[in-house]
Amino acid sequence: MTRVLVIMAMEAEAGPVRVALGLDETPSPLHAAFPARLWSDDELAVAICGTDARFDVDAIGTQPAVVTTLLACDHHRPDLLVSAGTAGGFAGRGGRIGDVFLSTDPLVFHDRRIPLGPFEAYGVGSYPTIGTVELAAAIGARPGVITTGNSLDAPPVDLATMIAAEADAKDMEAAAVGWVAEQFGIDFVAVKSITDLVDSPEPTAEQFGRNFDLATRRLAETLPRLLAQL
Ligand code: SAH
Repeated sequence: MTRVLVIMAMEAEAGPVRVALGLDETPSPLHAAFPARLWSDDELAVAICGTDARFDVDAIGTQPAVVTTLLACDHHRPDLLVSAGTAGGFAGRGGRIGDVFLSTDPLVFHDRRIPLGPFEAYGVGSYPTIGTVELAAAIGARPGVITTGNSLDAPPVDLATMIAAEADAKDMEAAAVGWVAEQFGIDFVAVKSITDLVDSPEPTAEQFGRNFDLATRRLAETLPRLLAQL
């Protein structure tokens, strides 16, 4: 059977997912210097990036995601890495709150602009995913392009990259986890549930707070279906 490792940024997202996946043991710390935690059984594992020791918030964003993924891969040796969590969607592309997107096409970064010859393509990146239209349909998700950056907002310069990529969702971890998967040569897919619509007049943070529980429930319903398809 496929060994699967799910990487999640926020404990409030991960709790319902662990319940849905039946991972209720005590977590293992992965490194003395980092707050990453791993719940695992023989084949399946969920890692969270943990709580930032100094700022006392979930360690969201790309650096904790990379460190957590590396440490958890060394521990669990997965065949498939899954970046799971919440994301911003786009009403203009038919996105709705609570939709769950399965990543298709390469994942890219939307905030790494390096106009220095070949560094430009390196900055945007392009990480493969095993997500397909068929797999999305089979798990009750929508196929979509997910782009990643380190900000919750979407200034015009980032939006231009999202539009060029035909993004359906934007998050803060997926492409970073996809980069680690590429280094290891293992399969990768992202599953992201929409908490907020980037092109809504309501501030993103307010939408995020109001819709977080719904989106997290949808995510927790979807992940067991993904595992059942592998
Ligand atoms: N400030 C929030 C927590 C951060 S929200 C709070 O009140 O607790 C950002 C997290 O959710 C990240 O892990 C990111 O991957 C995801 N996310 C949800 N909506 C997002 C959006 N519109 N843009 C970027 N990331 C988003």
